[in-house]
Amino acid sequence: MSLGERLPLVGYTEMATPTMNGSSLLAAEACPPEVREILHAAISGEELTFQQGLTLATAEGSTLEALVAVADRLRRGIVGDAITYVVNRNINFTNVCFVGCSFCGFGRGPGAADAYSLSFDEVVRRAREAWERGATEVCVQGGLPRDLDGFFYRNLLRAIKHAIPEMHVHAFSPMEIDYGVTKTGKGLGSIPGTAAEILDDRVRKELSPNKLPAARWVEIITAAHELGIPTTSTMMYGHVEEPADLVRHILLLRAIQKRSGGFTEFVPLGFIHENTRLYRHGGARPGAKREEHLRVHALARVLLHGAIKNLQVSWVKLGFETSLACLQAGGEYVSPEEFRMKIRSIGRVPAERTTTYKIRRIFDKPENDPQTALAQLPMALTESHVTYAEGAY
Ligand code: SF4
Repeated sequence: MSLGERLPLVGYTEMATPTMNGSSLLAAEACPPEVREILHAAISGEELTFQQGLTLATAEGSTLEALVAVADRLRRGIVGDAITYVVNRNINFTNVCFVGCSFCGFGRGPGAADAYSLSFDEVVRRAREAWERGATEVCVQGGLPRDLDGFFYRNLLRAIKHAIPEMHVHAFSPMEIDYGVTKTGKGLGSIPGTAAEILDDRVRKELSPNKLPAARWVEIITAAHELGIPTTSTMMYGHVEEPADLVRHILLLRAIQKRSGGFTEFVPLGFIHENTRLYRHGGARPGAKREEHLRVHALARVLLHGAIKNLQVSWVKLGFETSLACLQAGGEYVSPEEFRMKIRSIGRVPAERTTTYKIRRIFDKPENDPQTALAQLPMALTESHVTYAEGAY
């Protein structure tokens, strides 16, 4: 689980293409012929087209139920019933940022009363504290201050790895890399695929004209993959985007994955509208509702089938109940004690993984669960903010 605020997922077990089971078959049969045909294609392992994706992207009522059932069937065939989590801590080293994304409630100007920047010592102290409490990963991201030293990212990475060599450092979004990272030296374990939002420059201009263009995001991510550095992939939904934007975004990620194989997972991120300029000025919907969360997760599972195996559900943003529903719409997710209990409540098996999906422990019997001190770790004020951390904006 996130000692701060992050999300998890499931390990992958190779299995044959699933066949339609009773409930997904029944649900599909009740759909209009066009949808039925698409769902049959999905379940038999075919790669869906943009037009087929677009049809599913507007699914409602019983059609949505059928999509969810099929997505859940695909999930079971690909990753089985385990729901995994990585024990990590998010360290957002500064909230000072000049970029000014309109959907962001996290970034501050350098003179703001609540602006902060952590020293390297403090970042290392938090990382060490996490390690001592069982974390295997720190997710390190922040705002973009104008006066950042050219070697800041590299030095921050070195400081953490010097203090805790075995800690997996999942750090620096493509935006941060675009801004300053050219040489990080040894130590970077993986990169968060954040800053993707919607990979379409028309939408990006509405959300954040100062952010890197879609092509630059793709260039950085694929360069990382070519260097053997895995990344996550994300998509922010529930703001100004149209269904076609979602489908195009997911299909772009699918195409990248087919070339590089470097994505560890896909993380749909619902837009959090509170405290954002974008919403205040009437430019966006107030985030997605439960039905839309379900549709997006199921759509992603179906469109990414055969490409990206792991689909992460952001409990931080969706809350437990919707997250559990999404876990039955093709998603997987999670984290420690309380999560293990929630996972078992829907008949699935909790397991702890590494950042790159190696299973560390499977908790098949509640009586064997470790009693850790994770839940007691005090969350620093800055860590409670989910804005720029993976899985949240
Ligand atoms: S989303 Fe990131 S880059 Fe954009 S304003 Fe917020 S902190 Fe800055």
